[in-house]
Amino acid sequence: KCEANYVPLTPLTFLRRASAVYANRTSIIYAGTRFTWRQTYDRCLRIASSLRSLNIFKNNVVSVLAPNTPAMYEMHFAVPMAGAVLNTINTRLDAKNIATILKHSEAKVFFVDYEYVPLARDALRLLMADLQTCAVAAELSMPLVIVIDDVDSPTGVRLGELEYEQLVQTGNPRFVPDEIEDEWDPIALNYTSGTTSAPKGVVYSHRGAYLSTLSLILGWEMGSEPVYLWSLPMFHCNGWTFTWGVAARGGTNVCIRNTTAHEMYNNIALHNVTHMCCAPIVFNILLQAKPQECRKISTPVQILTGGAPPPAALLEKMEALGFHVVHAYGLTEATGPALVCEWQAKWNSLPRQAQSKLKARQGVSVLTLEDVDVKDLKTMQSMPRDGETMGEIVLRGSGIMKGYFKDEIATSKAFHKGWFVTGDVGVIHPDGYLEIKDRSKDVIISGGENISSVELESVLYRHPCVLEAAVVAMPHPKWGESPCAFVTLQKDSSSTEADILAHCRKNLAGFMMPKKVKIMNQLPKTGTGKIQKFELRELAKSFVVT
Ligand code: ADP
Repeated sequence: KCEANYVPLTPLTFLRRASAVYANRTSIIYAGTRFTWRQTYDRCLRIASSLRSLNIFKNNVVSVLAPNTPAMYEMHFAVPMAGAVLNTINTRLDAKNIATILKHSEAKVFFVDYEYVPLARDALRLLMADLQTCAVAAELSMPLVIVIDDVDSPTGVRLGELEYEQLVQTGNPRFVPDEIEDEWDPIALNYTSGTTSAPKGVVYSHRGAYLSTLSLILGWEMGSEPVYLWSLPMFHCNGWTFTWGVAARGGTNVCIRNTTAHEMYNNIALHNVTHMCCAPIVFNILLQAKPQECRKISTPVQILTGGAPPPAALLEKMEALGFHVVHAYGLTEATGPALVCEWQAKWNSLPRQAQSKLKARQGVSVLTLEDVDVKDLKTMQSMPRDGETMGEIVLRGSGIMKGYFKDEIATSKAFHKGWFVTGDVGVIHPDGYLEIKDRSKDVIISGGENISSVELESVLYRHPCVLEAAVVAMPHPKWGESPCAFVTLQKDSSSTEADILAHCRKNLAGFMMPKKVKIMNQLPKTGTGKIQKFELRELAKSFVVT
């Protein structure tokens, strides 16, 4: 290491540069409010200085419960500028989970958007009760609460003494942030959504955040001056790093509170949005929009999707609407997307259905991921790259987390011989592209055969009446386990369970056939909108199969 020229990597430099290079360009649009990059930099410095006056120093945790608003965006720079660690909390969690996160993270400050005041109040009450009774909590104290009112139309809702804009007003725009001593210092703390286990605090370093941001900008070929619609919650892996990435490209952040079809279509049309990220579940919101909610997409909008497998049938429908979809795979522990389904020019001439099948694969490593493999965890041998032999998906590279906060046991369990074990199962095709088959816990083992629930779900999504599909294992007296499908239907659809079974019979090998299809009004979901398969597995146990 050349000590004289050691410059720690940090995404904070993106904002300083944006304020110099794109000073008067619009940084944020939110309802009737607009800021420029110079103003955003100024506001972030003020907030950082106010946090310092409130005794926030290096490695203190600052939690935020807010939707995609300008304040939420600013916090991604302002909090680490004060040396602190940003902990964005999923707004869909309940009060108990929020209290657990506030306690575990030892948050010193808790910013709360006005809309979430009732939820935060309940969480704070639970935290207070817990701290009073818990002996180990003797050294912990309640966080200082700061409410964030609406910058566009203030509501006057308050919780605690302070309001965010007060911190901006009284802050010092000439504040000089402390030098980052080590690029491995923490910048963010993100709790996993707990689809399969209790939430764990994933620590991101300045270095990891910087490299992942660059990697995604390149992987998605995001040029300068993008107009980026915030349809992905910023609390999800810091918006898959695009909180920092939009500053790096001098783009415009279009902030919205809710991802309704109206908000999304309206903002896309009004501001000529060029880019957005979302989970495949948002495709259904866009595709199911009422005619009066839709606006014509005049230039193609680039969508980066991930977080759950996007069925090929949905990808086709989105492309037909004028969205250009790129598929990525990742997880909280990988600072968001770690693989991207990089498009090959030679695929352009293929029929649309074949193209979406290729696009539904999870792809190849992003630039800063050193390697991805599919292995047998017992021997750590790589599986043959034949597109058929399943193994555990493992990752290695600079975007992978430092570890879980205050949890050495979980951290050491997460890594095997230098590889991060994702808990997902997949295959690698002969062309090197990875395809997920399942979460390891969701694979259905029927008569010794591994059945991928993702494969079955993609067939169900091809039924014209199916809106959502989830397949889980159900106990079977002869086969041990067999597939059980849960679906919800498109509006006004009169399809029956027998119709759906007939569709499966036409499209699936006999051993993969679901032994039961159940039509539901809705499927149980996690805070990030993912289907909770463990609940469906419990439900499936009550079905009698012969
Ligand atoms: P949680 O593990 O608590 O759900 P994450 O949001 O980190 O939290 O989810 C990561 C998981 O989401 C991955 O391990 C994988 O199972 C799933 N996932 C992410 N992207 C994709 C994708 N493109 N296709 C299929 N599954 C995906």
